[in-house]
Amino acid sequence: MEFKKSNNYHQQALKVMPGGVNSPVRAFNSVGMNPIYIAKGAGSKLIDVDGNEYIDYVNSWGPLILGHGDASVIKFLQDTLANGTSFGAPTTLELDLANLVIECFSSIEMLRMTNSGTEAVMGAIRTARAFTGKNKIIKFNGCYHGHSDYLLVKAGSGATTLGVADSKGVPSSFVADTISLEYNNLKAVADAVQEHEGEIAAIILEPIAGNMGMVMPKQDFLSGLRKICDREAILLIFDEVMTGFRVAKGGCVELFKVIPDMVILGKIIGGGLPVGCFGGSMEIMQRLAPIGDVYQAGTLSGNPLAMSTGIATLRKIMEPDFHKSLNEKAKILTSSWQKEADKLSIPFYQLFCGGMLGMGFRKNPIKNYQEALSLDTNYFKLFFKEMLIRGIYLPPSMFEALFLSASHDDQDIEKTIKAFSDSISELAKRSIYPK
Ligand SMILES: *Cc1c(COP(=O)(O)O)cnc(C)c1O
Repeated sequence: MEFKKSNNYHQQALKVMPGGVNSPVRAFNSVGMNPIYIAKGAGSKLIDVDGNEYIDYVNSWGPLILGHGDASVIKFLQDTLANGTSFGAPTTLELDLANLVIECFSSIEMLRMTNSGTEAVMGAIRTARAFTGKNKIIKFNGCYHGHSDYLLVKAGSGATTLGVADSKGVPSSFVADTISLEYNNLKAVADAVQEHEGEIAAIILEPIAGNMGMVMPKQDFLSGLRKICDREAILLIFDEVMTGFRVAKGGCVELFKVIPDMVILGKIIGGGLPVGCFGGSMEIMQRLAPIGDVYQAGTLSGNPLAMSTGIATLRKIMEPDFHKSLNEKAKILTSSWQKEADKLSIPFYQLFCGGMLGMGFRKNPIKNYQEALSLDTNYFKLFFKEMLIRGIYLPPSMFEALFLSASHDDQDIEKTIKAFSDSISELAKRSIYPK
């Protein structure tokens, strides 16, 4: 497998874009390679500019739950495009997508569209602060909520991969109201809430974490947070930018039956175009301008093209058994990986939920950020390369979840299992094992 053209483009890009990329994790830094330039996506496959073909487990970092170039998505997009690209005035597409989201998420009565997950988080936090009249925010180590200043504290994946826990350029006063605690540790939350009594506006988290690898919430973690929030008049915010529509039609809200005050969505809701969204009860959301006193706006918010790809994607997700089928494929894939690793006595764990997968080379699943940091990055780097040359495109960082799409078929799954087995066998042959 050659990467000649990709490498050449990368050298050119290095001259005009920092690190040659427009978002850090694309740079392949943590796997010690140059990024691969993509020419085309089709279904479950990516084809790069050198003509190499891969089975894609990144899917644009989550949005493409139907795979690349889904016919119904492309058709809807083309039909919308024929009438123009943006009007800065309402279209019925916004109404259609809003209704679909509300149908999926029982806790959302009213919502606002944005252009990214980052923006949606900022809007939600501002609204929560206004609604509660309080300033402090609790987040969790290893959870990522976009790149806004006050949330770049122990923010997982991109930042972790680069070894930068906190970004420069963020004044300490901007993070003074952010409290970052250990994930899955209810006692830490209870203690912090007590210490800052009457000051916490919101607790925000990824209800299944996906930006430090994939981490499931412990049994009573979410319901425990709900109880604390109810007692202390704190808003509970689920950042479901990654998990929304992916782990189940109604995301973690549907799975865990814990009702948050606000939900943040992104990625899949835009079906591959830039969208974010935040929503909650009527009472909370009516605080937003133009009817309320919280300002939030966007020139391209609710953009017709982005609404179209979102609508077409959600319609397919709402078909019966959509997630059942994802779950079945994910189960075969992850349990087969486990078998292959066990055969070679290589420590390994895996987990999945709908079309979201996690794995790592240690015995037990990680429960928090500190455990994530204990993973052997060097082994992953070598493993990643072995998989890549066998035509499997994994997220180029150990601190990311893997994404399965509806277009991954049995053959893809089989090929991926074989590549996994061959990759770890090859490393074992060279006496390379995870530490
Ligand atoms: C990707 C992500 C975001 C940020 O969304 P962008 O569209 O990249 O701004 C926020 N929260 C979570 C949980 C995410 O996975």
